Amino acid sequence: MAGANGIDPMAETDDQSALRLLARDVAAREVGPRAAHGDETGEPPTEAIKALAAADLFRVTIGTQWGGLGYGDVEASIVLEEIARYDVSTAIACQLAFNGPARGIEHLGGPSLQERWLPRIADGEAIVSIGITEPDAGSAVQAMRTALTDDGPGTWRLNGYKNYSTLGHVAEGILVWCRWPGGEGAKGVGAVVIPMDREGVELTGRHRGMGIHAATEAEIALDGVKITQDDVLLAGDPSSTSAFKVLLSHLNHERCGNAAMCVGAAQGAFEHAVRYMNDRVIAGKPIAELQGLQWKIADMAISLESARLLLARAVRLAGEGGTPPAMETAMAKTAANLAAKFVCDEAIQIHGGYGYSREYPVERVYRDIRGLCIGAGTVEAQRNYIGSSATKGATSVSPGWKNPLEG
Ligand SMILES: Cc1cc2nc3c(=O)[nH]c(=O)nc-3n(C[C@H](O)[C@H](O)[C@H](O)COP(=O)(O)OP(=O)(O)OC[C@H]3O[C@@H](n4cnc5c(N)ncnc54)[C@H](O)[C@@H]3O)c2cc1C
Repeated sequence: MAGANGIDPMAETDDQSALRLLARDVAAREVGPRAAHGDETGEPPTEAIKALAAADLFRVTIGTQWGGLGYGDVEASIVLEEIARYDVSTAIACQLAFNGPARGIEHLGGPSLQERWLPRIADGEAIVSIGITEPDAGSAVQAMRTALTDDGPGTWRLNGYKNYSTLGHVAEGILVWCRWPGGEGAKGVGAVVIPMDREGVELTGRHRGMGIHAATEAEIALDGVKITQDDVLLAGDPSSTSAFKVLLSHLNHERCGNAAMCVGAAQGAFEHAVRYMNDRVIAGKPIAELQGLQWKIADMAISLESARLLLARAVRLAGEGGTPPAMETAMAKTAANLAAKFVCDEAIQIHGGYGYSREYPVERVYRDIRGLCIGAGTVEAQRNYIGSSATKGATSVSPGWKNPLEG
């Protein structure tokens, strides 16, 4: 897999480099200075969102006919990386626009959903959150209870409870995975998109997590919500798992975005650590001269760059308008989650007591990336997929990886 210069798999086109510089500039000026406030208060990153919208940075993956730029997963990962370098909470608002409901609405939805939601998401005016997880259906999502019941021709009632909808408390809409009448297990699972102000939709609470305080997860009750054909993103077929599989494969966009945020956040922590090592003087010498700490920096760089390469491969394999492949995506997400945990932890250690204090941002970054190792499919769920596929003989796209089960 060669990049734009034929050699480097992470090489960027001129447009991609320009997008990275734009996102970096807006993030440094408008996102970074507000990050600590959002963390302390739990207020949503409204001003940062306005600044990103003014720079057209919510338009990245949305089709041009709805006011977007029509880019793909590579560009989404570039922007998410640059924003998460300064603030994961703000990056999550972009993640929802790039890799969340907007992708599903554009690729799977009909004109009424597309016209209703896509232009407003591209303008940065509407957030649509994701309602998949339920109290008894997290990793085992097919155990979901949220379901439709028939209510006349082409009309249903939606009942259920979604307990982890990021930014659901400020969202205008929610994409809800639910079961069509007569379905069981993964059969009959489909999805609808509904406005939050529709009768029967109630915000019942917000989680108080260890991190991502400005983009917390909401609990949402769905009580007899009227659903019409116009709200349907993908209809579930009670005799088939096909819609469920389509929805699952769409999560690969979100997983790559999650990996990009981890790479960006870890990059920020890495840079803080290098700067601190050069500033901090102990017994007349900067700690940057200590080989024991240089080795930490080496291991952090190796971990970070390994994850970045796996992510670059996954998003480039999506191609134009495609979906990142499952195996490469699962590897990229796992590697990025683990790299972020390791790099952010070591960044705190390098800062000594100051790293543990809120005077330096590495403490916040460490708390923020922790949730990313759970959201969009846990590290364990990714390992289950990679391990079970590989033991059945599946391979990645690497030419050197041959199916060991074939003669
Ligand atoms: C920051 C954050 C944001 C989120 N945002 C959203 C959102 O916007 N929308 C949404 O719908 N959900 C969201 N979630 C929910 C998230 O998708 C779930 O938390 C996740 O899927 C795990 O489900 P669970 O919490 O019920 O854990 P469980 O499924 O109960 O798992 C508990 C533990 O068991 C492990 N485990 C489970 N099954 C297996 C297995 N077969 N083998 C090995 N280990 C296993 C898990 O990895 C985990 O460590 C978010 C979560 C977080 C933390």
